[in-house]
Amino acid sequence: MGQRGDGGGSIVSRLPRIAWGKGSYVYDASGKRYIDGSGGPALFCIGHGNEEVNQAILGQLGRIAHGYRYHFTSEAAETLQSIVSRRAGEGLTEMVFVSSGSEAVESCLKVALQYQAAVGQSARRRFIARRRAWHGNTLGALSVSHFDERREPFEGALLDVRFVSAPNAYRLPAGVEPGQLAEVAAAELETAITELGPENVCAFIFEPVMGAAGGAVPTPPGYARRVREICTRYGVLLIADEVMCGAGRTGTWRALEHEQVVPDLMAVAKGLAGGYLPLGAAVYRKELMAPMVERYGAVRTGHTFTAHTTACAAGVAVQEIIERERLVEKVATDAPYLFDALRDALAPLESVGDIRGRGFFVGIELVRNRVTKTPFDPERRLHERIFERALANGLICYPVGGNVDGRAGDHVILAPPYNASRAELDEIVEKLTTSIRESLNER
Ligand code: PLP
Repeated sequence: MGQRGDGGGSIVSRLPRIAWGKGSYVYDASGKRYIDGSGGPALFCIGHGNEEVNQAILGQLGRIAHGYRYHFTSEAAETLQSIVSRRAGEGLTEMVFVSSGSEAVESCLKVALQYQAAVGQSARRRFIARRRAWHGNTLGALSVSHFDERREPFEGALLDVRFVSAPNAYRLPAGVEPGQLAEVAAAELETAITELGPENVCAFIFEPVMGAAGGAVPTPPGYARRVREICTRYGVLLIADEVMCGAGRTGTWRALEHEQVVPDLMAVAKGLAGGYLPLGAAVYRKELMAPMVERYGAVRTGHTFTAHTTACAAGVAVQEIIERERLVEKVATDAPYLFDALRDALAPLESVGDIRGRGFFVGIELVRNRVTKTPFDPERRLHERIFERALANGLICYPVGGNVDGRAGDHVILAPPYNASRAELDEIVEKLTTSIRESLNER
């Protein structure tokens, strides 16, 4: 038994001990079976216990665990770089492989700063990010995050970041029509840039589909294109944080492909090696590289474990399976099935306010009143209760609190493995419906 800490805020509860997993199922030490409805935290994109990935890891370990980046390159890292640049497309060919999503974001921030300095824009030190965003736990990534509960102990020591609204079609700002949302939110970014002084702004970072803190909120149509235009106009770099929504989860390999928008930098992690080993990447456009190398001799980010050879071998195996089995296409095809099943099953529950997301990345928001969209009293910790009921019912899901104002708001994220069968999707929907119903009935 253990504690649940970071996943959903400050939850402390008794957790089962993991024993093994196969496909969409995991088993605890007592033999109890759970269906993995959220792929952990949108991580296990091809399920558990995949023999091909395990063999690739063992094969690499049999040769050598890791070739340190200042001494060697490796076939695994080179192959992974070519896979990622081909899948990302659009000149996103440069990358640094790291060991987590936070490090991927941190490296994106640092590459953005280094590039601006390299092109003589060394006053561009400020970042703009969005409210309700989650970008990670290292100090830089935490600074651009807006997850109150996780920031609180570190306030005062974080970077001075300017936050703008994250548009959410379910919670429109007063007086704003749905069709105006993208423009209003993009205009807020432009105002922030002009107020800070464009010559001081390094980059704008956002999640194309907002994950943990917002509950799988896609950006409204046209928003990404507008922020791209604004960033280009003011010389501000655009960073897409695709740690959670990228690598195929939303039915395209890059989440921003859906909007036909190309960022300058992009963080990917979770789906890259599917949880088999820790792996992330800060990916950036080719043109950014030359000025940095010319001015500083190298890109000044990375770690001892950068491009860890065995982690990269796991990434190659996972990405080859995704491509060979056409799993990104499968996500796009099966997503409407999952959304329909959820809508049918959850419609009778008065407290289900919104079901949203894209691909196999779904957010279900719970409200006390469907008409007024009033959230539940945060003291009730509804999301924690759902997590506990789901565990008891043999379902892994990812409930989080605070999406409305940092304290109030309860949502559940589902992010099944891309290769989950339709029968497994049905089981996830059924168990989630039961768990939400039971939690609502608890007093
Ligand atoms: N960025 C996003 C969008 C995330 O969802 C997360 C983690 O949930 C991170 C960054 C940080 O990733 P990690 O927990 O691997 O450091």
